[in-house]
Amino acid sequence: MGWSRPKILPFQNFSMHPASKVFHYGIELFEGLKAYRGADNVIRLFRPDKNMERMIETANRCEFPDFDGNELIGCIKKLISIDRDWVPNSQSSTLYIRPSMIATEPCIGIGFSNQTKLFVITGPVGAYYQTGLKPVSLLADPQFVRAFEGGTGYYKMGCNYAPTIQIQLNALNDHNCQQVLWLYGPERELTEVGTMNIFIYWINESGERELITPSLEKKIVLPGVTRLSLLELTRKKKKFKVTEGRITMSQIIKALNENRLIEMFGSGTACVVCPVNKILYDKEWYEIPTMEQKEPLCLQLYSELTDIQYGRKSSDWVEEV
Ligand code: PMP
Repeated sequence: MGWSRPKILPFQNFSMHPASKVFHYGIELFEGLKAYRGADNVIRLFRPDKNMERMIETANRCEFPDFDGNELIGCIKKLISIDRDWVPNSQSSTLYIRPSMIATEPCIGIGFSNQTKLFVITGPVGAYYQTGLKPVSLLADPQFVRAFEGGTGYYKMGCNYAPTIQIQLNALNDHNCQQVLWLYGPERELTEVGTMNIFIYWINESGERELITPSLEKKIVLPGVTRLSLLELTRKKKKFKVTEGRITMSQIIKALNENRLIEMFGSGTACVVCPVNKILYDKEWYEIPTMEQKEPLCLQLYSELTDIQYGRKSSDWVEEV
């Protein structure tokens, strides 16, 4: 019992019993982080400890065994140092790192798995934005929910993603919307956008300039590492109010009608930030003026985070490989 010794192997297929629980009950989790090569040729990881925290919490929810996050970071660093030539030599591309855990016990009975495989694969990814930050349009259709109270939306489990694929595809094919804005409950609270957290920058109803993102309290929102970093960066600056709270569609429409909504953007490892320019809700298109600002906040935050990730600005948020 316990974990076997970690191994670094050439990329290859797995051979698994067809009754492995992951194939039948989706007992699975994953993480996503990146390795960045700076102009100084140093390879850095961005807050990998936060991915490990989230991975361990999710493992716990899956009844997977515990593991030492620092030890896994050590294994990931070793893997990347062997594969260092795969980390792109570019200040816009990265090496994506995908740690996963799957239930491998070959048993059809529904129950916890007494065998687990933890593995990490990597692959180079090109620039998310080829030519500057490109805004996206969102479909906000309250008949679909991504997560619900008492469910698993707070955890990075594969089972949260499978049901979203069709909705995402239909949003694009039927409405030409690049992302889904996931709403929740009778008040149509905003929760996330696609596989990103969501931020609104506005003048709130009390007349204060505020950056707000849905709170984690109900556990229906994934605790994004980028989300946390943007909250910490903006709170440190003290330039405007920064809130984790509740935002409803009616508040968004009211703010738009009163010209108080300044920006809306998603946040995540893939894009850092992703500006929103339109929402289709209840058969009506709403224009969001994110990219019409003189110096959009989301652009400033994008520069600040990427400066840290690529080592242009020193920070204790990065770990060298
Ligand atoms: N929400 C969901 C549902 C996601 O899958 C992701 C991507 N991990 C995020 C938000 C953003 O999280 P992070 O900033 O850690 O990439």
